[in-house]
Amino acid sequence: MPLPKHGLPADQILAQLDAFAENDLDWRSGRVFAYHYDPGPEAEALGKQAYLRYLKENALDPTAFPSMMAMENQVVALAAEHLGGDRGVAGNFTSGGTESIILAVKTARDHARAHRPNVTRPNLVLPTTAHAAFHKACHYLDVEPRLFDVSAETFRAGPEDAARVMDDQTIQVVGSAPSYAHGVVDDIEGLAGLARERGVLMHVDACMGGWLLPYFRRLGAEVPAFDFSVDGVTSISMDLHKYAFCMKGASVVLHRSAALREHQIYACSGWTGYTVVNPTIQSTKTGGPLAAAWAMLHFIGDQGYVEHARVTLEATQRLLAGLDAIDGLEVMGRPDFCLVAAASDSLNVFHVADEMKQRGWYIQPQLGFRVHKENIHFSVSPGVAPQIPAMLDDLADAVAAARALPATDIDTLQAALQHVDPDRLSDEGFLRLLALAGVEGLAVPERMAGINELLNRLPPSMADALLTRFYNHLNHQG
Ligand SMILES: *Cc1c(COP(=O)(O)O)cnc(C)c1O
Repeated sequence: MPLPKHGLPADQILAQLDAFAENDLDWRSGRVFAYHYDPGPEAEALGKQAYLRYLKENALDPTAFPSMMAMENQVVALAAEHLGGDRGVAGNFTSGGTESIILAVKTARDHARAHRPNVTRPNLVLPTTAHAAFHKACHYLDVEPRLFDVSAETFRAGPEDAARVMDDQTIQVVGSAPSYAHGVVDDIEGLAGLARERGVLMHVDACMGGWLLPYFRRLGAEVPAFDFSVDGVTSISMDLHKYAFCMKGASVVLHRSAALREHQIYACSGWTGYTVVNPTIQSTKTGGPLAAAWAMLHFIGDQGYVEHARVTLEATQRLLAGLDAIDGLEVMGRPDFCLVAAASDSLNVFHVADEMKQRGWYIQPQLGFRVHKENIHFSVSPGVAPQIPAMLDDLADAVAAARALPATDIDTLQAALQHVDPDRLSDEGFLRLLALAGVEGLAVPERMAGINELLNRLPPSMADALLTRFYNHLNHQG
């Protein structure tokens, strides 16, 4: 695709940018229960201004742009104090939860390399409910993920199950505060106690909950201890671009000490160019997200967050009560946070997600895994809070509609799957699988139940192969 010979007029370009967004989810409607965390128009406007002000600065080299390090140190200090840390805590601002988590796992791996020479095949012990970012970190860093199960009733990860998969090659234990899927805070005290006893590191993934959980506690909610106040917790990831309502590209990774954080930093003077010292994965990077995060935290302020937390907590309670009243849906566990999953014994929840989409709502489907059933997931935030009653009305309707839809022909699906080899998925086999799921050509279908049902039935490795192939086609030229 060639560039236009002469540059296009600005208004034409802006119109085209708007046109690109035509089919995007309209999160401003308050009808999208995922992906966005909105602090309201005033804070958003300020965040944008702050972002633009530092858009062109390069956070690559804090000796050239001391502004970047000053803001980063303040954001980290603020985050550390918020999470029960003392002045010994060291950390960095990163682009998101995934980067924070990759860096925490890298730190554990390199810490083991430096201090535990017997570790030659490092593994990471994590609950089945831990975020996929840990699997990705393991994949990138050549660390083995060792999964342990969580209670099928409470969805809470605890030390007995973790201990079963630990061995002398374990470098780090993981717990979530809370898990994305069910909004449940793990038994962090138990897990951290186990880690300490075995002399390994312990990471708490507070990407979702780190910022608001302390506010929920202040509002009277019961929140289990999850942060640096717990002995044995050695690092925490916390996203600012989720429930601290900052612009995207904002997270922190914190370590209990600078000695631990040292293993996170990468330096290279073994080439012909400028000396590289990178605490994070990116090198050249915009200062926008950091300036915007600094600005948002200071603009919203402590009382502002109390209010956002109150609205969110009340909306979550309304949602839980509403779900309990809908016949056919059951809330999974008892969420400690504003993330709620609902499963069903009597109907196909993927149809419910599709039916909600038809009614103008976005509700996220989640696949089953091991003993845990497939379900639909709601992220509650101030932006969606006013819409909860209307959403619940439509949800009751959608459940009734889903009940009336024909069941998937599981037998045909199972039979067809027996002949598929994920390691040698031919193009023909791939297209046949898609056809089974009701996907024609390579367009993403309007109704997703077929493809979700297929993914839900496939062993995860095969589902991953299928998704990779599909994405590889989708994300190509166009
Ligand atoms: C969102 C999330 C992550 C990953 O964060 P990104 O910002 O999407 O990279 C990790 N852990 C949990 C619990 C999350 O909710």
